[in-house]
Amino acid sequence: SGRWAKAMAILREFEDKCGTPIGKLHQVADAMTVEMHAGLASEGGSKLKMLISYVDNLPTGDEKGLFYALDLGGTNFRVLRVLLGGKEDRVVKQEFEEVSIPPYLMTGSSDALFDYIAEALAKFVATEGEGLHPSPGQQRELGFTFSFPVQQTSIASGTLIKWTKGFSIEDTFGQDVVGELTKAMERVGLDMRVAALVNDTIGTLAGGRYYKQDVIAAVILGTGTNAAYVERAQAIPKWHGLLPRSGEMVINMEWGNFRSSHLPLTEYDQALDVESLNPGEQIFEKIISGMYLGEIVRRVLLKMAQEAAFFGVDVPPKLEIPFILRTPHMSAMHHDTSSDLRVVGSKLKDILEVPNTSLKMRKAIVELCDIVATRGARLSAAGILGILKKLGRDTLRDGEKQKSVIALDGGLFEHYTKFRTSMESTLKELLGEEVSESIVIEHSNDGSGIGAALLAASHSQYM
Ligand code: ADP
Ligand code: MG
Repeated sequence: SGRWAKAMAILREFEDKCGTPIGKLHQVADAMTVEMHAGLASEGGSKLKMLISYVDNLPTGDEKGLFYALDLGGTNFRVLRVLLGGKEDRVVKQEFEEVSIPPYLMTGSSDALFDYIAEALAKFVATEGEGLHPSPGQQRELGFTFSFPVQQTSIASGTLIKWTKGFSIEDTFGQDVVGELTKAMERVGLDMRVAALVNDTIGTLAGGRYYKQDVIAAVILGTGTNAAYVERAQAIPKWHGLLPRSGEMVINMEWGNFRSSHLPLTEYDQALDVESLNPGEQIFEKIISGMYLGEIVRRVLLKMAQEAAFFGVDVPPKLEIPFILRTPHMSAMHHDTSSDLRVVGSKLKDILEVPNTSLKMRKAIVELCDIVATRGARLSAAGILGILKKLGRDTLRDGEKQKSVIALDGGLFEHYTKFRTSMESTLKELLGEEVSESIVIEHSNDGSGIGAALLAASHSQYM
C-alpha cells in the first residue's frame, strides 16, 4: 500500500544518512586525531577538552591497605570497599553496594545530591566487617569517580565544567566537587578523606593497568561515552607544570563532546540535540551512547507513525513521550531470534501500547534498531582508531611486536551484544588483519571502582 511504501521510504532515507562506509570512518578517525592534537595544544583549542588528570602513575600492584571508592556518573552510584594486599595477595577482599539516584535529585540542588551520596556512603561504612577497618588512628580514604567533565586542579580537586547525561544542577558549576562531597560527609558525620578525584575512564584505565601492563587506553560505552589514554607528558604543550618523573600523563579526552563534519548526522539527531538539556554539546555521545540510541529509534518511529500511519491512522500517544523507549528495550528487540519476533511484539505492546503488529512491521523495527546500533558501534571503532593513530599504534613498527590493550566498560558495551560485535569487527576492518593481532579490546568489568580505590591508595596520605 501507499502507506507502507511511505514508511519504508522514511526508513531507507534514514539508513542512507546513517551510512558509515570505511572511508568515512577513516575520516572520522583522522578528525579525532587532529582534535586530540588541538586539545592538547591549548586550553579551549578544541571541542575535545583533553583534560589533564594529574594521574601520572598508574597502579603497579604494590598498593596495600583498606580503601573506599565512590562511583557517580549515571543513574546508579556505587560504593566500594577493597582490601589490597600488595604484589602477592592483590585484591584480598572487595565489597560493594549499588544505590539508585532518584530523578528529582538529578536536577535539584547540589547540597541535596551530595547529602544523599554522603549518607549512603556513611551507611556503607557502618557495615565494615572484621579485618576491614582502617588501622588505628588512620583516616579512611576514598577514590571519587565523578564521571562528568571536570577541570582538575590537582589529583584531589577539580571544578565541574558542565553536567551531562540528564544531570542539571545549577549551583554545582564552578564548585570543587571534592569540596562539595567533603562538606556533605562532614554534615553527616563521616570522617573520610578524598585522596583522588577521577572519572570512570581513568578509573577503568587504572583498574585495567593493575592486571595488565599493556593497557594504554580506556573507553566507556554506557549511559554516556568517554575515553582516556596515557600520553607522553612531552606531547602536551598546554601542560606548564613540572614534567612528571614517569614522563607520562593520563588524559581524559571527554570524547563525548567530539564533533566533526564527517559524522553522519540526521534530522532526528538534530532534533534530539535541540530538545536536549545540553543543546550543541556532546554530539558524539548523542549518536553513540546508551542514553540516546533508544530515543533515536523512537524519533524515527514517530515520524513513520505521523507521516506514513505506520501504526494505523492514529499515532500511538506513548510514542510521543521522549525517552520512553530505552536502549535496553531496543537491544531486546534487536536480538529477538524468534521466528515471529515475539519479543518485538511484546515490547511494542508493553512500552508503546501498540497491541497488534504484523511480522512485516516488526521486521522493519528490527532493521531500524540495527541501523542506529550499527552507526554508533562503527563510529565508536573509528574513535578508538583515532586514539591509536595519535599514539602511532595503528601500524606495525618494524620488527616490533608491541601489544596495545584497550579496556572497555559500560552497560552498552557489556549488554548490547550486536553493538559490541559490530564495534569489534569494525575495528578489525579498519586496522587490517596484521595490525589487529596487536590490538586487544578487553572488557574491564567494573574496573573503574577498583581503579579509583587503587589511585586513592597510590595517593594516600600514609604512603
Ligand atoms: P553508567 O554509564 O550510568 O555508569 P552503565 O555503565 O551500567 O552505567 O551503563 C548503563 C547504560 O547501559 C544504560 O543507560 C543503558 O543505556 C545501557 N544498557 C544497560 N543494559 C543494556 C542492555 N541490556 N542493552 C543495551 N544497553 C544497555
Ligand atoms: Mg559507569
